[in-house]
Amino acid sequence: MRYIVEVDDVTLQGSDRTLLLALLDTRPEPGFSDELTTVGQLHALSPNGWSADLTTVIAVRDDLVRILLGPREGASEALSDLGRRLGLTLAFGANGGVSLRLIEAGSSAPLLEPVVAAAIELWSAGDLDKLRVCRSSTCIVPFVDTSPRGHREFCSPRCATRERVHRHRAAARR
Ligand SMILES: [Zn+2]
Repeated sequence: MRYIVEVDDVTLQGSDRTLLLALLDTRPEPGFSDELTTVGQLHALSPNGWSADLTTVIAVRDDLVRILLGPREGASEALSDLGRRLGLTLAFGANGGVSLRLIEAGSSAPLLEPVVAAAIELWSAGDLDKLRVCRSSTCIVPFVDTSPRGHREFCSPRCATRERVHRHRAAARR
């Protein structure tokens, strides 16, 4: 049995937090529609989207949403389960590099490999606690808070400004 925790201090190649965050961002939320319902949307995420199977990618996205944006207890076990289901193995390159392979992901592997690698890297780097969702009432964009004090609330300066204006107006009305 392979466990993801075994790759704890391995530096995974091809780790792509931006792609992972973009995939999480497509999730439906109350008031926000699902932005991953067509192959076109899959391709917009990644050039590897054309060959991927939409149903498989959606299932993995929903798992990652639950694991990464839900309660963090049990995240490592849940990531291990996901890895087992996708047939996660590590491939060692001739130059000493390590890459992740998802044997059971079929045609979706080229898209999902960097995504799952990024999720593992986020977890193993201890940065899962820094993964937040924008506090703006009109935005559900996830981001990794790398600010020195770790108090970032918004995904972008645009959302921060919009919320400041919104709060200012609400206060002025009182
Ligand atoms: Zn935002």
